[in-house]
Amino acid sequence: MSSLSDGKRLVLEHYGRVCSRCGFSDWRALWIDHINGGGNKHRAELFPNWVNRDKPGGRGGGPFYTWLIKQGFPPGYQTLCANCSCIKDRTEGYGEGDYVPPDDWPVQLEMTL
Ligand SMILES: [Zn+2]
Repeated sequence: MSSLSDGKRLVLEHYGRVCSRCGFSDWRALWIDHINGGGNKHRAELFPNWVNRDKPGGRGGGPFYTWLIKQGFPPGYQTLCANCSCIKDRTEGYGEGDYVPPDDWPVQLEMTL
């Protein structure tokens, strides 16, 4: 059972309790986004274990939230939900204009697997 840590609570209180793009408010799918990108690289530098999901602190925001708090909540971060973060990752470098409504998706009757 997951619960909201004090660290994440403090960080969300500062950067926003809801997604800055869509307003989604379930903290379980909210995290802190580097507005200008590079978040994973930055976290990897701060916490070498970040990408190692088998180690404590290797996953989730704990050490990162602590770092933000110790830094006095530096600018350049925002609260994003999982969906908006995923969409941002996919559109980064391409602008926001490449969203394709499902109706416009090309129909592929055959796939080569
Ligand atoms: Zn969102």
